[in-house]
Amino acid sequence: MRCKEFIRLIPDWLDDALVGKQAYKFLYHMDHCSECREELHIQFLVKEGTARLESGAGFNLDKELAAKVEDYRRFLRRRDILNRIVYVMEAISVAAIIFILVLVFMKMRF
Ligand SMILES: [Zn+2]
Repeated sequence: MRCKEFIRLIPDWLDDALVGKQAYKFLYHMDHCSECREELHIQFLVKEGTARLESGAGFNLDKELAAKVEDYRRFLRRRDILNRIVYVMEAISVAAIIFILVLVFMKMRF
């Protein structure tokens, strides 16, 4: 992912609307590009800061952004594990079907 694409996707990420492969690429770019991290930081401050000033609530946005990034990492990790479980289940299903077909085939021959 290039910086231009990352910056284009920041609003989606802030709205929790970034999913699929792009989500991983976004996180990877965030970890490896300090300029884009800075841009994300600024956009987060503008978005959340404006909302908070209107509501008058106190805030620590640096901490909140760090927490949001961590939540996101956890979310992707959980989804990764779930995907792996689904993959294993599929493999087991396919193996079971092949096994049953072999049994049926052998019964037909003898
Ligand atoms: Zn970048």
